[in-house]
Amino acid sequence: MAGVQGRVAIVTGASRGIGRAIALELGKQGASVVVNYNSSPAAAEEVVQAITEAGGKAVAVQANVSDEAQVEALFKAAVEAFGKVDIVVNNAGVTRDNLIIRMKPEDFDTVIDTNLRSAWLCCKAAIGVMMRKRYGRIINISSVSGVVGQSGQTNYSASKAGLLGLTKSLAREYANRGITVNAVAPGFVLTDLTKDLPAELVSQLNTVIPVGRWGAVEEIAHATAFLASDEASYITGQVLNVDGGMAM
Ligand code: NAP
Repeated sequence: MAGVQGRVAIVTGASRGIGRAIALELGKQGASVVVNYNSSPAAAEEVVQAITEAGGKAVAVQANVSDEAQVEALFKAAVEAFGKVDIVVNNAGVTRDNLIIRMKPEDFDTVIDTNLRSAWLCCKAAIGVMMRKRYGRIINISSVSGVVGQSGQTNYSASKAGLLGLTKSLAREYANRGITVNAVAPGFVLTDLTKDLPAELVSQLNTVIPVGRWGAVEEIAHATAFLASDEASYITGQVLNVDGGMAM
């Protein structure tokens, strides 16, 4: 199996949580990894160290991926470090949960900018470098909240559903150029993003997850690494729900 061996991957928001697990998995499977972060340099360096200590190659690159100039600098840094970009995982994301009646417009804008605009900017930059090689794997990390909706998350669900439209449209634009574009929609996974959810909601959630438990970051990483592999060449425009059966 070729997998991701010899490929170069950018993982956005890879300093913590799911992005960290994806970076570690791609590094373990033989990709050179650009560990993007925004505000956690020490955590990103720890991810780089873990990949290199395991015999892989990685660099940490700071960029706020909702900013066009910083995205351009991120891709430039990746090409300078490793010569090309084959895989982009758009993982960076935030929440600003509230009922719509109490949600401020700036909470809508921050979530859309960080979760959706960022991915669009990174897709645009990725296509620029991938077109020349006629090879690419783009994976957008959506959410079960974007697939089925979630009370208190009108901003977040809109951003994650938006990623699905972006995924399918871009998949159609580049399907005949060796570039696949897919989405992974995780269910509930314990990370910094979800650790402060109210206990009542957490126990309610366990009853609606058919598998009966939350997911592990590694389970999201394995699914993502598969879509990033050479072997996933005939899969494009798809949404892979990795959610213990929540959306079916
Ligand atoms: P997390 O633990 O809070 O980590 C978020 C990551 O995003 C951090 O590495 C953070 O970097 C980075 N980030 C935030 N804003 C950024 C920006 N403007 N530019 C670059 N990086 C930025 O979150 P997580 O739970 O791992 O979530 C990762 C992705 O999975 C998100 O897209 C989230 O929506 C999605 N997801 C999560 C769950 C879940 O249950 N956890 C479920 C479904 C989908 P710094 O620390 O360096 O700022």
